[in-house]
Amino acid sequence: MKNKYVPSRFNALSQTDDNGVVLYNSYTGAITYFSEEEKQEVLPSLKRAGTDILENEIQEALYNNGFLVSSTVDEKKRAQFLHQSQHRTDMMHLVLMPTEACNFRCTYCYETFERGKMNQKIINGLKTFVQEKAATLSSLHISWFGGEPLIAFDVIKELSESFLSITKENNIDYSCDLVTNGYLLTKDVFQQLLSWNINQFMITVDGVGEVHDHRRHLTGGGKTFDTVINNLLAIKEVQGSFDITIRTNFDEDTLPEASKLTQFLKNHFADDRRFGILFRPVGKWGGKNDDDLPVCSRTMANKKIWELTDEAITEGFSMSSMITDTLMPSASVCYAAKPHSLVVGSDGQLYKCTLSLNEEFNKVGKIHEDGNLELDYDKIASWVTSGEETDEVCQSCFYRPACQGNHCPLFRRRIGERPCPYEKRNIKKVLNLIWKNSIQS
Ligand code: SF4
Ligand code: SF4
Repeated sequence: MKNKYVPSRFNALSQTDDNGVVLYNSYTGAITYFSEEEKQEVLPSLKRAGTDILENEIQEALYNNGFLVSSTVDEKKRAQFLHQSQHRTDMMHLVLMPTEACNFRCTYCYETFERGKMNQKIINGLKTFVQEKAATLSSLHISWFGGEPLIAFDVIKELSESFLSITKENNIDYSCDLVTNGYLLTKDVFQQLLSWNINQFMITVDGVGEVHDHRRHLTGGGKTFDTVINNLLAIKEVQGSFDITIRTNFDEDTLPEASKLTQFLKNHFADDRRFGILFRPVGKWGGKNDDDLPVCSRTMANKKIWELTDEAITEGFSMSSMITDTLMPSASVCYAAKPHSLVVGSDGQLYKCTLSLNEEFNKVGKIHEDGNLELDYDKIASWVTSGEETDEVCQSCFYRPACQGNHCPLFRRRIGERPCPYEKRNIKKVLNLIWKNSIQS
């Protein structure tokens, strides 16, 4: 068969407000802007019939970025191979809960706070486990999670110092992120965390003043907004590279207040691109207040996420880098679906998912003091094989390389529907926003 250059099945395209286009390919991760003039060349080149030769620089750029592929390529095989690469044993991701206690009691929280701080036996077990794995690892990513992880700062310190030393000795790429409510994140604490390679943060702010305080108050009921914002303002003075996502969980009650929060954040952080916003709807995540939560309908949530993001960008405040990151190959796959990823509870219980901590199907093993893992591979298999391998719609989806049918295996298990991420469902709008955000830089 004669070779032709045809459009990739993993392309998505969006118009920009200046009459150009943004092209995205979920297999290569390329996101490329073409001006109105270039568009005249791009659109005909992407016709289904394809083109026999690459005639000009634009067509070469389309080919080099994966927007055009050779007609002899089996793209579904490419995606399948990418999915199989999740089984690489030299890459490991651990989600660690140095404590499962929290100083906040957020209205929508699903955690039960029955288990406190990680004890020395589990800390020793983790150090030994990573030491023993080190010889075969090329990369280790740690997500610090909780409870509120900063309550157990000493545990983070002890484990970080150990992991830093092991990864340095063994030439392992070591990276970390941390999810915190921000209350204990003083400038000093922040600088310590940076020194331990923890430089990606997610901090939730749900509104200005009382709106936030009402939803995200201290265990005893005290206010938290001023402390969190003052911490963020102090952090802004720190030099260097880090990335802070300010996450806003919205519901029917807080939606009318969202613009005030955008204005507030713009006034304080718009001049610093290290801070970006991420809007997400509050869900019934399994907490005791679920029945009373004024959650938005799915249609409304889908629409509002991007309207609010658009408003923030228009006001000059950055969109979280997490949104673009999530479009990259394999990046929309939840850690629960990855074979070499584990969640470690403060008592050494091993899980796959960070949400369903009390469900038996999520309790996949234990870590012991000597570093040995006791694992239930049948349970693990149920988390890592429920995506594109069996779902034919996922196999044909343009977003398959990014998501692999595995954006949220828990959603698929509980609801029985495909867990398509918000980004995929509104890809045209998202690509337009990525372009808009990039021209603000
Ligand atoms: S399976 Fe779903 S709920 Fe669980 S951690 Fe992944 S995305 Fe979150
Ligand atoms: S879950 Fe949705 S976005 Fe993910 S691969 Fe399947 S159809 Fe595509």
